[in-house]
Order: sequence, then C-alpha cells, then structure tokens
Amino acid sequence: MDIDDVNAIAVLGAGSMGHGIAEVAALAGFEVRLRDIETEFVEDGYEQIEWSLGKLVEQGQIEEADADATLDRVSAHVDLAEAVEDVDVAIEAVPEKMAIKKDVYADLEAAAPDRTVFATNTSSLSITELAGVTERPEQFCGMHFFNPPVRMDLVEVIAGAETSESTLELISALAERMGKTPVRVRGDSPGFIVNRVLVPLMNEAAWMVETGDATVEEVDSTTKYGLGLPMGSFELADQVGIDVGYHVLEYMHEELGDAYRPCPLLESKVDAEELGRKTGAGFYDYETGEGAQVPSDRVREDVADRLLAVLANEVAGLIEDEVADAESIDTAVKLGGRWSDGPAKMVDEADVEHLLDVLDERYEETGEERYEAVSYLRELAETGGGFHADERAAGGADEASGSGGDGGYDYEDLSVEIRERVGHVELDRPHRMNTITDGVLEELRDAVECFEDDEAVRTILITGTGDRAFSAGADIQAMAGGAGDVNRAADLSRLGQETFGRLESSPLPVVAGIDGYCLGGGMELAMGADLRIASERSEFGQPEHDLGLLPGWGGTARLQRIVGMGRAKEIIFTADRYDAEKMADYGFVNEVTANDEFDERAFEFARDLAAGPPIAQRYTKRAMHRGWDDVDAGLDVEAQSFGLLFDTDDLMEGMTAFMGDGEPEFEGK
Ligand code: NAD
Repeated sequence: MDIDDVNAIAVLGAGSMGHGIAEVAALAGFEVRLRDIETEFVEDGYEQIEWSLGKLVEQGQIEEADADATLDRVSAHVDLAEAVEDVDVAIEAVPEKMAIKKDVYADLEAAAPDRTVFATNTSSLSITELAGVTERPEQFCGMHFFNPPVRMDLVEVIAGAETSESTLELISALAERMGKTPVRVRGDSPGFIVNRVLVPLMNEAAWMVETGDATVEEVDSTTKYGLGLPMGSFELADQVGIDVGYHVLEYMHEELGDAYRPCPLLESKVDAEELGRKTGAGFYDYETGEGAQVPSDRVREDVADRLLAVLANEVAGLIEDEVADAESIDTAVKLGGRWSDGPAKMVDEADVEHLLDVLDERYEETGEERYEAVSYLRELAETGGGFHADERAAGGADEASGSGGDGGYDYEDLSVEIRERVGHVELDRPHRMNTITDGVLEELRDAVECFEDDEAVRTILITGTGDRAFSAGADIQAMAGGAGDVNRAADLSRLGQETFGRLESSPLPVVAGIDGYCLGGGMELAMGADLRIASERSEFGQPEHDLGLLPGWGGTARLQRIVGMGRAKEIIFTADRYDAEKMADYGFVNEVTANDEFDERAFEFARDLAAGPPIAQRYTKRAMHRGWDDVDAGLDVEAQSFGLLFDTDDLMEGMTAFMGDGEPEFEGK
C-alpha cells in the first residue's frame, strides 16, 4: 500500500497517547476512528482532542475552521468491528501489558480487512512477539510516538523479525505526513533507541545515590549543567513518573539481563508511591517543598564520567546489536529526549578511551554487569576512532548531515555549500522549524570563521532548510533548563549576541535569505546580516513579550538601528506578526520575492554581492559600523580607507571596466 492510498486510520485506546495520536492523524487530514472499551473512556479521549485543538487555535498555530474540520474527521467507537471495518492502518495504544495487547491483536485480526497494516505504540515490548498473534506479521511494525504526540517530533519506526520493507516505508511516510520525523529502528530490542539510552542513565544516577557515591543534587547538577542535558536525571524521572522508567527497566532486566537490574532506590520510590510530580513527591517534593531546584554549582567531573561511560556502553551496544546506527541514535535522542547534542556525539567529544577506562575500573571494583564494556566500545577505543568516525556506526551520516561534502564544513545542525563565491549556510533543523540551540550558535560562528579564511568565499548567504521557516527562534527548551536558570540564560543571551555580532563584524557581506517564519531569535539572526531578502509568504515578529521575556540576542539594540526606534518599539512591544511587504516598508527587508522564485533569487542576490570589490566592501562595513554611534570616528575610518583603496588593484580594475563599459573582475588585491 502506498501512503496516498491511506484514508482511514483506527486508533485503539483513547488514553494519554491514543487521543494524541488520533489528533495528529486527523490534523494531517486522515479520517480517524478512535476506539476504547467504554463509552466514557472514548468520550474522554474525544474531549481531550477538542481541548488540545482549542489550545492550538489559541496559540495561533491553526485557524478555528481547521480545528472544526479536524474534529469532524474523528469518530468515537466502542464496537471494534465498526471502528476498523474500512481502515487502512490501525495504530494500537492500549496499556503496556503484553497480555492485554495480545488480546487486542487477536480481536483486531478477526475484525480488520486483510489490507490493514497494524502498528503498535508500545514503548518497549517485543514487536515480533505481538506480531506473532496475527496472521500478518509482515504487515506489522512498531510506531512509537512520544508524549505528547502533538508536540513531540520523533516517531521510532520499529521492524519486527518479519516486518516487510514496504510496511516500514508506509509507516515512515505516515509519520512524515503527520509532520513527524521517523527514525528507523532496525532491531526489535527492548526500549528501542530512546528508552534504551535514557532509562539506564536514570538507573546509573540512582545507583550513584544508592551507594552513597553522590547526592541527588550533585547528580542533577552534573547532568544539567555539566553535561548540558535539558534536565537533571532525577528531575526528569520525577517529570516522567518514576514508575514509567522503572517498568521499562524491569522489562529490559528480564529480556537483556543483569546489566539492567533496577536500582533499589527506584523500587522503593515506586513501592512508596512517590512517583514524582504526579503524586506530589518523588526525588523532589512538589507539595510542601520547592520542587526540582537543581543547583548549578555542584557539578562533579567523576559523576559526569560515570554517566557518560554508561551512555557510551549503551550506544555501543545498540550499534553492535544492529538496532540502530550512530546517526539514528543521535537524531532519535535529540528529538525524543530534547537533547541539544546526540549521545554518540557527546561520547566522541568526551574521548572513548577514557570512558572505557572508567567502565573497566568500575567493573573491576564492583563486578556489576552494567559496567562490563561491550566489545564494540573496546574496538573503537583501540582504533582511536569515535562513533561518528566509524563507517559501521555512521551508516549514511553524510547524507543525513547534509554537509554538502565541502571539506572542513562538517556540522550537525548546519549544511554548507560553496558555489560561485557564495558561502551558503543553511540552518538544517527543519523538524524543529530551524530553531536555534547553543550548538547551532557555535556551529554558525565556526562556519563564519571558516568562510572568512576560505579564499573561495566572498559573500555569506544564510537560509533555513525547507519552506516553513528561516528560523522560528530560539529552541528555548533545548537550551535553558527552564525558569529560574538565571546565569545560564544570561550566558545564552551573550552567546547569541556575540554570534550574531560576529556576522555584523565579518569582513564579508552577509545576506539573510528568509523563507517562512522569521521569529524571535531567528529575526535577531537576520538582524546580524547586512542585507535581507524575503519570500512573500514570510512572517516576522519578536514574540518575546508574550512570553514575559525580551529579545535577548541583540534585538533591542540592532532592530532600532535598522528600522528606527519607533518601529523597533512597535515590533517588540506589540509582539505582533508582520508580513514581508510590511517589513519591506519598515526597511527591514531589502527585497521581497515571489515564493516560487525565492531560492534562485536569494542565491543570485548573494552572488551579485560576491562579484563586488572585497576590500571596499570590508572597509565600508567597518566605516559604517564605526560611524553609527561616533560620527567622527566613522569619518576617520572612512578617510583612511579611502586612502588605502587608492593603492589597490581593484581600483584600477574598477576604473578600467567603467571606462570600457565592461564588468569588473575584482580580485580583492
Ligand atoms: P493510558 O492508560 O493513558 O491509555 C490506555 C487506554 O487504552 C485506556 O483508555 C484504556 O481504557 C484503553 N484500553 C484498554 N484496553 C483496551 C482495548 N482492549 N481496546 C482499546 N482500548 C483499550 O496509556 P498510555 O500512556 O496512553 O499508553 C498507551 C501505550 O502507549 C502503551 O503501550 C505505552 O507504553 C505507550 N506509550 C506511552 C507513553 C507515555 O508517555 N504515556 C509514551 C510512548 C508510548
């Protein structure tokens, strides 16, 4: 079956996940039959969808009419036969119990048409075992959404032993139609990718506290501020529910052995029903206490080493067992765990050899199986390579990173192409609307510096991948730990200011090519450019005031320079959205192009600048910026530069071409 043949989808189970999956399927235009075992449960799920669609309207993400049409596409059922009689795909999201799911599949097999593809949203159970209940194991796979499906971009698509390639292709295409990023999980192994990485990390955190090696505060401080993960280990466990991770761990223990033995500390929390936020207490107290207050100054290097060592072993195990390659692991954990860097990349940066030593020492000391290094990690340490240096692990990484194959420009979140003297850098995070993380800032800064040293580059063009967004702003969730992280937020503001300031002070002309959303931090990135070209459909705005923030990446200073104080205040204080024509009227956009001509015109615009006189361009930028707040100093730079230009070959070339009516060929000499 082809994705275009899919019209109707059944979602079995209308609980937390089921209603969310039904909502994203209906938003994508499919007819959805939502089914639960009691009228009350299914009505509850339906109402949750209605509420969530209302929120999307409130936040301006969809129009009221779209929300109504989406809800019209969802029908509620208790009768299974009625729910599945004409569906092309059935997605199951009933409780995570093998026996319940097996019963559901036995009934489903009898009721569904032969063509229907079955997909389970299980978080950890064996796809092969579940598929075995049906007569169609080749038409059966895992389709693991993350909570809440309406906001989380990742879908793990998991092959069972007999799943056909066409089923995997169909379900991946379905995830894409729902606006999600599918990551293929080749081996049907407990926990798949994201839980297999996150859950043992939580277990190791708990073991450190259990054995008295570290405190909850030290572990969380290290996880959040030392390793830069979005939350502390215990903070995350409390957020998700300690029982949720514990049950996955129990299952991994049963299936994969003693390396996954749950720490007694987790067990005692589950027994005491202290499950985290949802019960008012877990590792932190949310009722009488202040909740998760993670200190930023209790980072311990040995704690970081231990967490990274366990992480390295899990990543190596996933690759060795051919569950997934390093690139897929990084993508999945970044999207599913909201990490700003993937675990394989983090391990590579930390040095595999050192982490192997940490594991070996712990294993010798404790004899605990979770410290027994898998042979692939040992192999990597011996060859001196990292996960990403190794072909087996990287499997197609070049294609996925889209770095364009230009030597030296190998980035995780950017892709770079140098053509006709234009250094074109694209923010390459279309699944997150090209939002900006600290990783993006660092890579961007590096790319600008490399361009400046690269003789093949005369102009920088910055765009965003895809046609939805230039950049929808800062990926606040991936970067700041949340409200209260005062120092980290201030550091982040400075990092953004400096990076965008680097564009401003670059000797090369910089063009921002804007197609789609250009909001918040994205708009501040565009302010760092010298010139801006935008497609008609682009939308601009500084929404920070709506969030109780202010533009923190140079927007308060730079926007007024471009559009004047009055307009800048209007844009920032109203937090309104502006179209491209309006922004051209305000002087922010230099040229507006038709949507279908945007790519070509943006490149042409940059290419024309690249044909200009490099030395004169550099001096002009310098004189103009210097003269902004100090006219005399600016005029001084102007006069000196004017003198220096008289001694260049470019001046001769320009003069000669002018006299002869030809096009000058400036060489920057
Ligand atoms: P839930 O308890 O919120 O919902 C399960 C629903 O299934 C309930 O409404 C229940 O009445 C219904 N149900 C029970 N038997 C049924 C049957 N025979 N037919 C139809 N419906 C039936 O659970 P959940 O959190 O939505 O989890 C569902 C699945 O999704 C599980 O496999 C879980 O592991 C997986 N999952 C959960 C999360 C999460 O964060 N909650 C994330 C990813 C995957």
